Amino acid sequence: MITVDDLIALVRAYNPNSNDALIRSAWDYGAKAHEGQLRHSGEAYFTHPVAVAAILAEQQLDDATIITALLHDTIEDTGSTYSEISKLFGEEIAELVDGVTKLTNLQLSSTETKQAENFRKLFMAMSKDLRVILVKLSDRLHNMRTIKSMRPEKQAQKARETMDIFAPLAGRMGMQWMREELEDLAFRVLNPEARASLMRRFITLQRETGDVINKITGDIRAELKRVGIEAEVSGRAKKPYSIWRKMEEKKQGFSRLSDIYGFRVTCKSEQDCYGVLGAIHQRWRAVPGRFKDYISQPKSNGYRSIHTTVSGRDGKRVEVQIRTDQMHEVAEAGVAAHWSYRDGVRAENPFAVDPARWISTLTERFGAGDDHDEFLEHVKLEMYPDQVFCFTPKGEVVKLPRGATPLDFAFAIHTRIGASCVGAKVDGIRVPLWTRLKNGQSVEVMTAEGQRPQATWIDIVATGRAKSAIRRSLREEDRERFVRLGRELARVAFDHVGKRATDKALTTAAHHMGLPDATELLARLGSAEMTAREVIQVLYPKLADKKGDEIDAARAIVGLDPDQPFRRAACCGPLPGERIVGITYRGQGVVIHAIACEALAEVEDQPERWVDLQWHSGTHPPVHTVGMDLTIRNDAGVLGHICTLIGEQGANISDLHFLDRKQDFYRLIVDVDLRDIEHLHSVTLALEAESDVAMVERHRDLNRRP
Ligand code: MN
Repeated sequence: MITVDDLIALVRAYNPNSNDALIRSAWDYGAKAHEGQLRHSGEAYFTHPVAVAAILAEQQLDDATIITALLHDTIEDTGSTYSEISKLFGEEIAELVDGVTKLTNLQLSSTETKQAENFRKLFMAMSKDLRVILVKLSDRLHNMRTIKSMRPEKQAQKARETMDIFAPLAGRMGMQWMREELEDLAFRVLNPEARASLMRRFITLQRETGDVINKITGDIRAELKRVGIEAEVSGRAKKPYSIWRKMEEKKQGFSRLSDIYGFRVTCKSEQDCYGVLGAIHQRWRAVPGRFKDYISQPKSNGYRSIHTTVSGRDGKRVEVQIRTDQMHEVAEAGVAAHWSYRDGVRAENPFAVDPARWISTLTERFGAGDDHDEFLEHVKLEMYPDQVFCFTPKGEVVKLPRGATPLDFAFAIHTRIGASCVGAKVDGIRVPLWTRLKNGQSVEVMTAEGQRPQATWIDIVATGRAKSAIRRSLREEDRERFVRLGRELARVAFDHVGKRATDKALTTAAHHMGLPDATELLARLGSAEMTAREVIQVLYPKLADKKGDEIDAARAIVGLDPDQPFRRAACCGPLPGERIVGITYRGQGVVIHAIACEALAEVEDQPERWVDLQWHSGTHPPVHTVGMDLTIRNDAGVLGHICTLIGEQGANISDLHFLDRKQDFYRLIVDVDLRDIEHLHSVTLALEAESDVAMVERHRDLNRRP
């Protein structure tokens, strides 16, 4: 293990202004916290955070990142706390360590491919500060470099995660070297035979072709010297996994040099880059379709370079990347270039991207490039601002649209969990159900038996899944309520004719009316799709026609000719017993208004249309429909009880609809068929006396035409 002095020297080399005392104090703190803990290899645990810090120092990162590396496992594995670290090393470092701890706590075990993209986005989303990801990636790199000491199953699991999540993440951050090393370390574990046979082929090929790298770099140098451009030329063999992936993609063995070696020319200026390109294309033939100019169209993570493939020596294909030194720095460090130091100051690289802006521009740049990979990257990330990722207490990820609430979360887990939700805890704290969830929060849903979806939930949820589950449940509940109500209506109506509404009687009536069963009949009664009178009519036709001395409804009005058609005005709906006046309408006969009806103002200046009328003084049949506006308590059975009360007054409910459904009260309009104004008074009185009824009013709709 390197010493604290080694580490400080490493940092000093690029940042002479670094805070040595703070690094030293973090070192001592970490060493003490991990004292006595061992790694799988048997080494002292603290060697790991030190190695992670060293990896980041090689990337020339700032003090806060180096110190975070030294402390990154303390909150997770030792007695340290956020507040202690904040007190000793400041808020910035405490936040960073806390961020790394959160990422460590993610359960990545369910890394099916489907989830992998989510996890990568989740990592981004959870890290307000991308330095958290840099530390996490370096942590994983060191763990992969030392993976041999782990149990084989554990090795396979870590390697899979690395391949699915960490390597692509490093790639997205623009850190190509990190991506390649992670991939190759994972490849060793996941497919050792493939890697070994690839290496054998590779060695044979090298023997056959000789020192290809030296020959080709020599050729390129000679050409650049000829045109007078000063540049560095280097070549390298690609990592086994990159070669393997190319073979898999092309479904062919490797034979082309361009699949195995890569060459790079780094020069001083952008102009030189194009000069180099011209020289190379002049000397060797360019392979069509392999030219890409990421200098004029940089990738969103700041990557700039010219790529081309030419037919070189003996017609063998050679891939060349051309870039400036500054572009090269960004190509290697990626987003991390933003934090690097050189000679004691933040390195000002004009090509480094501001990480915060980087994320936000990802979507704007959509459509700018025609590079396929980048296109995909945009498409995937485009969805990211609209989503939040939350966790179950077990650490599983639940993906939700932005604006989602704990209720959406509950329904996303299971409809049953959503339906029985009574509360939620977010990060361990009780919150209202309408709270909007944020990225990375852990959500615990509290349920209770007997809880059912509430009508008010519709406005709280954001997901279609939750909305439709709630609607379905409310409909079912409505039906149950209608059945209960129908049972009451039937009971009253049967009582009225001296019979009992037994199941047998109801089933018989249902079958006679072409309905599947008694429940359907009751539901229709309750929802006023049919009247109790119709049911009685089916079973006891004689009893239903008990009219006695009631006057004929067609002769209810005195003052009209026997065959003169009339109807009650829809606006005021006058009842027998109320003072009325008739107004003639061309082709519509006479419309009966209450004498106080405001609609009469319209015909005030047309006295010829006014007809003096009166209600018949005899007993009217209960056929005059009046709307009653009721506000009643929302409680099981209240509605049924209301219907019983109305039925007991000898009135029939002919329609019923809900206006408003609040947590504790309902407002509904009940259409009741009445004999006369006295009948209305007795029904109103009976309702007003009922403690579950908050308000009773005659419903008049003056907006309706007469
Ligand atoms: Mn670690």
